[in-house]
Amino acid sequence: MKKPLIVQKFGGTSVGSIERIHTVAEHIIKAKNDGNQVVVVVSAMSGETNRLLGLAQQIDSVPTARELDVLLSAGEQVSMALLAMTLNKLGYSARSLTGAQANIVTDNQHNDATIKMIDTRTITELLAQDHIVVVAGFQGVNENGDITTLGRGGSDTSAVTLAGALKADECQIFTDVDGVYTCDPRVVATAQKLEIVDFPSMEEMARKGAKVLHLPCVQYAWENEVPLRVLSTFDVNAGSLIKGEQCHKAVCGIAIQRDMALITVQHDHFPSLAKQCQMLGVEVWSVIEEAEWTGVIIKRDACAKLALVFNEKIRNSEPVSLLTTVGLLAQELVERSCELLAEQGIEVKSLSVDKQSLMLVMLPQHVDKAANILHEAYITSDELLASHLKHVSLG
Ligand code: ADP
Ligand code: ASP
Ligand code: MG
Repeated sequence: MKKPLIVQKFGGTSVGSIERIHTVAEHIIKAKNDGNQVVVVVSAMSGETNRLLGLAQQIDSVPTARELDVLLSAGEQVSMALLAMTLNKLGYSARSLTGAQANIVTDNQHNDATIKMIDTRTITELLAQDHIVVVAGFQGVNENGDITTLGRGGSDTSAVTLAGALKADECQIFTDVDGVYTCDPRVVATAQKLEIVDFPSMEEMARKGAKVLHLPCVQYAWENEVPLRVLSTFDVNAGSLIKGEQCHKAVCGIAIQRDMALITVQHDHFPSLAKQCQMLGVEVWSVIEEAEWTGVIIKRDACAKLALVFNEKIRNSEPVSLLTTVGLLAQELVERSCELLAEQGIEVKSLSVDKQSLMLVMLPQHVDKAANILHEAYITSDELLASHLKHVSLG
């Protein structure tokens, strides 16, 4: 009978030291001893990708995209080798593979590539020989054989895409929290763990900054029906299962996106700004129109790239953070959210609403407090929401 196959992914904190790599090895060995074939995906040791990025930026504020991928992919290569050595030392045969060795083929978009295809033959052969296969996350190769990376947090996507290609029985994302919460539990102490999170909510949470899962990972799992679970490396419990098509809650979660910038220009420069963003592959999260100016919200690390070609036309560039409520009610929460925040002296600079989310733009120093205020109102004590909606519907 064919053995079940599971893909286990371990993030940066989980492989952050030799001791932790040992803990990771124990999870893998348990899965193997339980009768599974195991493919493991690892991230770089915590802090390593940022360290490498910092080195590159000492040379150039906008380093060559191809070379940056060569550099950053080294982080995962270190972890995969250390983990395979640990498993071997413990008596379990393991083989590590880079993205290229695992035949993970991506498009040509350096620093933000998309996986196009995985030829799983090498991995399948190694599994058939009873090896544990350890694959470097976050990386692949384009058709020219150049190394590419999948964007920050991309190891989750490597794992889920491998799980899909190998028709794995489950993809387990091991991290430093024990599941998906209603908000980042490091910011909101009362955040609640969600045993099951539906795909539409998880996708929106990931899109709006809940970095516990990389957005393309959620999208791939949803489209390809990959059973996906988030669980802790450091604590034994069932974690959160990502499953289902329907969001039933008024507000199911709150996401925080830090490190964003509001770039403003005179109205007549806006078409040219939008065009530059498109040409540079800079994602525009939101467009804000005010009487005096038009602005775009972009990631702060894209500012240097934009400034290179557009600098003299930028009127102002200021750091902002985004706070998004995700759930069935969005439009209905606009007024109440602004009111609740204003009562605590927090100004909402701008907002945008769509079908299942309300995104608020504010100064970075306000976002944690704002998350706690809205979480308390809409999730911890949702009577407030109920009474507010009654009030709204009565007019
Ligand atoms: P890894 O290195 O394992 O990939 P990440 O740092 O990328 O881990 O993601 C895990 C972190 O995501 C947690 O430590 C937590 O601070 C953060 N996070 C943000 N939003 C949420 C959420 N809704 N639920 C759980 N964790 C969240
Ligand atoms: N090491 C990469 C990062 O820090 C990828 C990942 O951790 O998923 O973004
Ligand atoms: Mg991550």
